[in-house]
Amino acid sequence: PFLPLFTILTYLLISIHGELNPWPPSIPTHIPSTPISTRLHNDLSSLKTASTDYGNLVHEPPLSVLRPSSIDDLVDLVRISNNCSTPFPISVRGHGHSVRGQAMAPGGVVVDMSALAGGEEGVRVSRDPVLGFYYADVGGGELWMDVLRRTTEEHGLAPVSWTDYLYLTVGGTLSNGGVSGQSFLHGPQISNVLEMDVVTGKGELITCSHQMNSELFFAVLGGLGQFGIIVRARIVLDKAPTRAKWVRMIYNDFSKFTRDQEHLISIKGANYVEGSLLTDKSPPNNWRSSSFYSSPNQSKIVTLLKNNQGILYSIELVKYYDDRTAHTIDQEIEMIIENLSFVGGFIFKRDVPIMDFLARVGNLEKPEAEAVAHPWLNLFVPRSKVAEFNTGVLMNIIGRHNQTTGPILFYPFNRNKWDDRMSAVTPDEDIFYTLGLLHTCEPHELGYFEDQNNEIIKFCEEAGIEIKQYLPHYKSRRDWMKHFGRKWKTFEERKMKFDPRMILSKGQNIFNHVT
Ligand code: FAD
Repeated sequence: PFLPLFTILTYLLISIHGELNPWPPSIPTHIPSTPISTRLHNDLSSLKTASTDYGNLVHEPPLSVLRPSSIDDLVDLVRISNNCSTPFPISVRGHGHSVRGQAMAPGGVVVDMSALAGGEEGVRVSRDPVLGFYYADVGGGELWMDVLRRTTEEHGLAPVSWTDYLYLTVGGTLSNGGVSGQSFLHGPQISNVLEMDVVTGKGELITCSHQMNSELFFAVLGGLGQFGIIVRARIVLDKAPTRAKWVRMIYNDFSKFTRDQEHLISIKGANYVEGSLLTDKSPPNNWRSSSFYSSPNQSKIVTLLKNNQGILYSIELVKYYDDRTAHTIDQEIEMIIENLSFVGGFIFKRDVPIMDFLARVGNLEKPEAEAVAHPWLNLFVPRSKVAEFNTGVLMNIIGRHNQTTGPILFYPFNRNKWDDRMSAVTPDEDIFYTLGLLHTCEPHELGYFEDQNNEIIKFCEEAGIEIKQYLPHYKSRRDWMKHFGRKWKTFEERKMKFDPRMILSKGQNIFNHVT
């Protein structure tokens, strides 16, 4: 139902004529016979996958899909585009979990990074010979789930910073940020990278780190795929905990909910803190961890929800432990939660193996997902404006409509865990919150949710709440400039330096506009 006419015509053309020439028409005539031609695919199924993502809102077919057999194929492809009088766009597709076509390459080539993932070489664990810490060298197309399995099961080690959902690629989350309840403590995933190999928009394969080619390193982290293709990232590891004490507390008062979250991210103790809103459309158990509450507890919370005008707040807190700390863990949890202001009796605890916690969302790749759309809105909100944001957005817009059918996340980060040299942007305050409105809707409801998202953004603009979009999506150059603010000039200069012919990641819609 979401396929636009252009896409349908392309599919039709292909189904009548079979495979068309996989190369864009602008390329020089000798190129079609180069070795990577055999790894270009333009059959219906390849094009359909490359023009679909989790959002199911944008469908822009490329001319072909490259399934690379090596990093050299990526270098060759980018160089070929550079050598054309009119370069063709190239976008890398990690796991296609963007929601607005960010990994698409209309009229160009989509690189399917899964073709390079999953091998023995995809996750390699080493120890720094001088400093003694451990790290993993992982391929850009590896799923975080596989990184977790390989580091934990084979080495008893694990990365420290995660996303809630692990079926996302390393290159995909490092191009954005990679946030979750551990970010307050360790920073987002982009703050936990030691080194990367990147194929730039000029087709050069460059190793970069804090010390080496640092401008490229910081450009790529949170860089929305604009500067290069991440083919390897070196990720910080720590000893993997074996178990997690997993606690959820219910609040009926927004200011107590935010005060306690800020307290929890300021003290030592918790490994993970995430707040969320509960409404009758966004109930206590949802796809983020469908079996946390027993059904009597779920009913108890639903009754409280009804008595509280249909809105409650939940703080999810986790402390990891292992055999060495098993005898003190309960006492430690008691100390962390003492003096918190949740509703009496509304604290719920579980004790699970670490895998059950980190992989709590499970794999969401279900066929029925094809029928629905995900017009998600993710924002960073400055702490100083959280009260106004609550009244204007959470209570008034979201509460009044009360239609949001997915999880509604709202939890804080410490900005000192984000390196300002990275491309990622945050509000200019020591603490900021993230709002995740993870809507799922039927095609006929789409307009409604898009209007609600626009109303939220408009309200913030008019109220002077300087939000930043996470996983951003804008339609004009002016909006992108505003998004990057004081970082725009650097962002643009880095683009000119690393991808001067504007080849990479056009699906992000950043440098495609004149105004
Ligand atoms: P894609 O959608 O394939 O690509 C995203 C962008 O990155 C594109 O511009 C693409 O060209 C570029 N890109 C991809 N790979 C590379 C590479 N190797 N080198 C350079 N550029 C590259 N985010 C969070 O921070 N925390 C969460 O908890 C979280 N949970 C999510 C849960 C679900 C169900 C979904 C759908 C998304 C979630 N996200 C979360 C958002 C997610 O991190 C981003 O959408 C991310 O980009 C998805 O990764 P991907 O591998 O699917 O990337």
